[in-house]
Amino acid sequence: MSPFVNIHTHNNHIGNKEFIEIINIDVDDSVNVDVPFLYSLGLHPWNVETKEFMASWFHALGNSNLKAIGECGLDRVHGSDLEKQKYFFIRQIEISEQYHKPMIIHSVKTYSDIISIRKETKAKMPWIIHGFQGNEQICIQLLRHNDIYLSLGEVLFKNAARATQLLKLISQERLFFETDVSERSIVEVYEKAALLSGRSLDELRSDIFNNFVKIFGKI
Ligand SMILES: [Zn+2]
Repeated sequence: MSPFVNIHTHNNHIGNKEFIEIINIDVDDSVNVDVPFLYSLGLHPWNVETKEFMASWFHALGNSNLKAIGECGLDRVHGSDLEKQKYFFIRQIEISEQYHKPMIIHSVKTYSDIISIRKETKAKMPWIIHGFQGNEQICIQLLRHNDIYLSLGEVLFKNAARATQLLKLISQERLFFETDVSERSIVEVYEKAALLSGRSLDELRSDIFNNFVKIFGKI
């Protein structure tokens, strides 16, 4: 049986073979990046008033547990100056491309900016838009880009109609699940998605795990 994949969480890792989790770490000067679990490292768009923390980046890039860059991205609702956010987002895209690390992206009311920046930077690495809850049109636009993946979490519990629609639109080769900051277990998230999509839990587990292996390789 394939493990449950939690592509983005801020909680402590479970450390059980039945689960694969990418734990989010916010980059700063004093952060410990020599951790015994898989993680992503990023400068969140809410924190871009701060610096680039290059020493931590370079230290982390030597650690095979660093799986992705992020979460990073753009936020029109809670973030500060959008130009500053773009500057730090693009710096992180450069790290992602140079070191071949996929990205985990936070996007609030900025989906079209994300697509424009992907085109402008000619980025090739997979991008996982986490906590996706956009509408049908935005979903279709994003999925036109072959290396963009959408990760669902809260929307499954908050808006069943939207989530059911998204589960129809997003092919299983482009889908992930996450718990993000919630205290829910990833098993609950998969179960809810199975219920709303009419797909079996086993099928979801195997397809999402295949997506993980396709992007991150075997672990
Ligand atoms: Zn998050």
